[in-house]
Amino acid sequence: MSRYWNSLVAKLDPYVPGEQPRIQNLIKLNTNEHPYGPSPKVIEAIQAHTNDSLRLYPDPTALELRQAIGKRFQLSPEQVFVGNGSDEVLAHVFHALLKHEAPVLFPDITYSFYPVYCGLYEIKFKAVPLDDDLKIRVEDYLHLEGQRRVGGIIFPNPNAPTGLAHALDTVEKIIAANQDVVVVVDEAYVDFGAQSAVRLIEKYPNLLVVHTLSKSRSLAGLRVGYAMGHADLIQGLDRVKNSFNSYPLDRLALVGATAAIEDQPYFEKTRDAVVRTRGVMTNGLEQLGFQVLPSSANFIFAKHPARDGAELAAALREKNILVRHFKKERIDQYLRITVGTDDECLKLLDACKSILR
Ligand SMILES: *Cc1c(COP(=O)(O)O)cnc(C)c1O
Repeated sequence: MSRYWNSLVAKLDPYVPGEQPRIQNLIKLNTNEHPYGPSPKVIEAIQAHTNDSLRLYPDPTALELRQAIGKRFQLSPEQVFVGNGSDEVLAHVFHALLKHEAPVLFPDITYSFYPVYCGLYEIKFKAVPLDDDLKIRVEDYLHLEGQRRVGGIIFPNPNAPTGLAHALDTVEKIIAANQDVVVVVDEAYVDFGAQSAVRLIEKYPNLLVVHTLSKSRSLAGLRVGYAMGHADLIQGLDRVKNSFNSYPLDRLALVGATAAIEDQPYFEKTRDAVVRTRGVMTNGLEQLGFQVLPSSANFIFAKHPARDGAELAAALREKNILVRHFKKERIDQYLRITVGTDDECLKLLDACKSILR
């Protein structure tokens, strides 16, 4: 606290990212990074552009990247917005597209950055409880007209940190029932097993779909995310972006991200490997007595009926294995464990076995 801070800064409650410790031989299963490196074509592209051209500003419109994303999802570049990680994209979405006067709805257990953005932009929100199985209860987002006005809706599909996904027809119900406001589907993990809402963009001008290259494209370190929706929504985002930072993506990020989007075979191969390991990890943990939620993501959410969640996380840490534990009501018995390589998965299972003995 400083007397030089303004009143907004003084009352912020910032997001706390998962640890990035520098410990040797650490098995890092705490922030949902991809266990395999990015496509070799990404590295080539970045290396090819690591030269004198860095003295020049990057393309402020990121046209080539937006074209590549558009081509991949059969959209025009005018339907694509890019930013410095999807966290930045989401920040602009809260700023530009979700109403500030009426409460924005999102699940009570979800990506914990959403309430942080609400604090930053002084947006009202209402956290809607998940049901007893930790699923998003769709009915809670329908028939809202009669009630208090709503400023918008945002939820991840699959949800974080549960990994539970809804089918596309269910997601569509929420979009269709709320056409007076923007409905944002945060698809950070969609590639690992859920259906994307992208193809509904043509039908619903109130739909915005947000993706990141951090998870399934193995580029958390490059910081690239994007949003797809009706050109009017994208223009709104552009207005905020151009009032904030004209060049959120540097020249290397632009070429690296474009190469990542264009290398579909590598993406599918590494994604499929993670999905396979997820199955092995789920079976292994279940055999050790864990209850594992059916995951559509690159992490699993699991608890053990005989062991405290925080204790388990601490015991794994003793063994140099980092997983994420949330001190939050209803989920404080769970561990969120990123799916790593096959070898990391075996080491995790061995460690759990010896801790539970
Ligand atoms: C990881 C994550 C993001 C942010 O990803 P970045 O592109 O790395 O900023 C957004 N939403 C959810 C649900 C996530 O899990």
